[in-house]
Amino acid sequence: MTDGNGGASADLSGRVALVTGASRGIGAVTARALAAAGARVIVTDIADVDGMAAEIGGLGLRQDVTSEADWIETMAFARAEAGGLDILVNNAGIFALKPLVDTSLEEWRHMQSINVEGVFLGCKHAIPLLAERASRWAGGGAIVNMSSIAGMVGGANTVCYGTSKGAVRLLTKSLAIEVASLRIRVNSVHPGFIETAMGDQAIAAFSRSADMSEQDMRDQFARAHALGHNGQPGHVADGIVFLASDRAAFITGTELVIDGGMIAQ
Ligand code: NAP
Repeated sequence: MTDGNGGASADLSGRVALVTGASRGIGAVTARALAAAGARVIVTDIADVDGMAAEIGGLGLRQDVTSEADWIETMAFARAEAGGLDILVNNAGIFALKPLVDTSLEEWRHMQSINVEGVFLGCKHAIPLLAERASRWAGGGAIVNMSSIAGMVGGANTVCYGTSKGAVRLLTKSLAIEVASLRIRVNSVHPGFIETAMGDQAIAAFSRSADMSEQDMRDQFARAHALGHNGQPGHVADGIVFLASDRAAFITGTELVIDGGMIAQ
């Protein structure tokens, strides 16, 4: 670990990072940011990632985060093609806006399988690889799990999503205690409204349920952030790179809220 006297580096040279759900949105921008910080980045997604991998000079692999077989294959790929793993960003996720009473058991399970089980499987299969190389780095190995402000405060018609993101928050804290002795840090990230395809999907759903235009809903979201505007994927990526780096060497089991002050109010 660092000596705590300042000067820890944000340079990720020599490190191997894996980002799930990285074909677009927050995952894609995070992969670019990790690569810019010097990491060799493996991008995975249920969608095609070859273009993304080529753009950042990284490696790409199709992966469904709900499949344990895919996780086993992805870890074998990381070991064979990149020599191991130092940073895992469990980013893949889905969103839905629906009242609890209208949510089918299948819809509930589908969301939990991606947003929660995907994170569980990622941590489970990455920890042995992260532990192997953790002593190389002042800040050890790092897992960053994608939660949301919806995992910290309640909201109507988001019970299914909020439950999944709340589970990720507590999975992160308990796991951080469990693997601290392996020199692996585990933290969660909690964005506010971020302009991505999922953000567009959320705006469309919220505006339909409130009978408002999408532009009015987007403006309402912007006003709900104390800073007066919605977030961009890069705002979240910057926080993830920080948590993955030695600058966060004494930070584990905590949550980084990146929401322009939305839930501080
Ligand atoms: P996005 O643009 O929809 O990107 C999510 C990516 O995950 C997509 O490429 C999606 O692929 C992929 N994915 C979905 N299911 C998958 C699976 N089973 N296996 C592998 N990949 C899968 O969303 P985003 O806005 O960047 O969100 C990224 C993360 O941030 C999510 O966990 C989300 O909950 C969280 N978040 C977002 C916001 C926001 O306002 N945007 C706020 C708070 C938290 P397909 O499109 O092919 O399904």
